[in-house]
Amino acid sequence: MKVAIIGAGVSGLSCAIELERHGITPVIFEKTKMLGDKPGYLVATLRLFHRSLRSPMSFLKSKYDINLSPLHPIKEITMTTPNKTVSTKANHGYIFSKGIEENSVEHQLAAHLDSPVMFDTDIKIQDIKKDYAHIVVATGDNKIADDLNLWNTTFAAKCRIAAVTGSFDIHALKLWLNKSFANNGYAYLLVKSICEAEIILAVSDIAMNKLDYYWNEFLIAENIKYPVIKQHDIDHMVGYPSTNQFENIYFIGNCGGMMDDFLGFGMLRAIESGILAARAIVNKLDYNKLLTPFKKELKSLTEYRKLLNVLTNKDYDMDMSMIGLPVLKHMIYNNPLYKAKYGVLVPKVFTYFKKKNHMFTLPKR
Ligand SMILES: Cc1cc2nc3c(=O)[nH]c(=O)nc-3n(C[C@H](O)[C@H](O)[C@H](O)COP(=O)(O)OP(=O)(O)OC[C@H]3O[C@@H](n4cnc5c(N)ncnc54)[C@H](O)[C@@H]3O)c2cc1C
Repeated sequence: MKVAIIGAGVSGLSCAIELERHGITPVIFEKTKMLGDKPGYLVATLRLFHRSLRSPMSFLKSKYDINLSPLHPIKEITMTTPNKTVSTKANHGYIFSKGIEENSVEHQLAAHLDSPVMFDTDIKIQDIKKDYAHIVVATGDNKIADDLNLWNTTFAAKCRIAAVTGSFDIHALKLWLNKSFANNGYAYLLVKSICEAEIILAVSDIAMNKLDYYWNEFLIAENIKYPVIKQHDIDHMVGYPSTNQFENIYFIGNCGGMMDDFLGFGMLRAIESGILAARAIVNKLDYNKLLTPFKKELKSLTEYRKLLNVLTNKDYDMDMSMIGLPVLKHMIYNNPLYKAKYGVLVPKVFTYFKKKNHMFTLPKR
């Protein structure tokens, strides 16, 4: 069976691993010159975003026989709104690196793989559509789904990723919610080592040439003075395809709608969606059906995003007890039940704000 995978990123490599295990050697096309050869970034996996209570490492090992090592665990999350800061200490999750480095997720996944990657090959679907029984789209963006009129955007932002130097606690993650410098977006800091961290600012509803302005507002508001070693800006588009299987084309990872629109996280779902696409191909299963639990989980986070969109800075501060860490905590500490309980919580919070006469401007869905 001839299978092509477009993109040798997190989801594409995971799909290839599972295909190989079923005796299929896929052809993997990758537009960069080598694995992870583009500006990398740190990736956090947070327990509150994942169905599994176990660590992502033991989860991936026991469920999919995939070995992945993090840089370090996250033991404290600090959330800052314009005038309030709340911290929680717990086993919150792990930090991984993505990109060209030897210990990046891409390189760790590739270590499981024998299939060669055809680098420096920027593939369009029409170039290969007739040559393969199945095509897996793992490009990390919405381009192909958009060209096929399948894409729906739920959150769009301009994003700055800046590596900074300083003195850091490797176990800490900082998160900022403030409409003044992020609109409906957010900023967070992930720590790479005791002397290096990465700050990500995602600002919704702006043009790219306005990002400098919002970045400076953020630095001033939060009194951040770390020297920046390098930075790059990207278009950050979150959404989902109307179907994850269209004719012989499978959408996985980010292009399969696996990134949440609360904080733009989706690495574990990218891995799982790749593996499940391989299983759907091998066993002739309904791929959309296999993704049902992920879609439910993502829908909960979309509800949370909708809630954040209608709040003001005053709400962020005043109602932190309702929308801030306690809700997140609730999801963390009641994780096995979180889907059921969270499902009840969100409409309650919505009703509360409706009573306060907030305008509802929900994103297109
Ligand atoms: C700034 C940022 C921060 C993030 N932080 C987190 C986080 O903290 N936690 C988390 O869980 N998730 C995070 N995510 C999301 C997470 O990184 C993604 O969900 C995950 O990496 C998606 O994997 P993917 O396989 O879909 O895409 P990628 O891993 O990006 O892989 C796509 C690959 O396809 C290649 N490609 C693209 N087009 C073509 C083409 N036409 N032909 C051939 N090759 C092509 C690309 O070069 C790339 O190698 C973040 C995302 C961004 C953008």
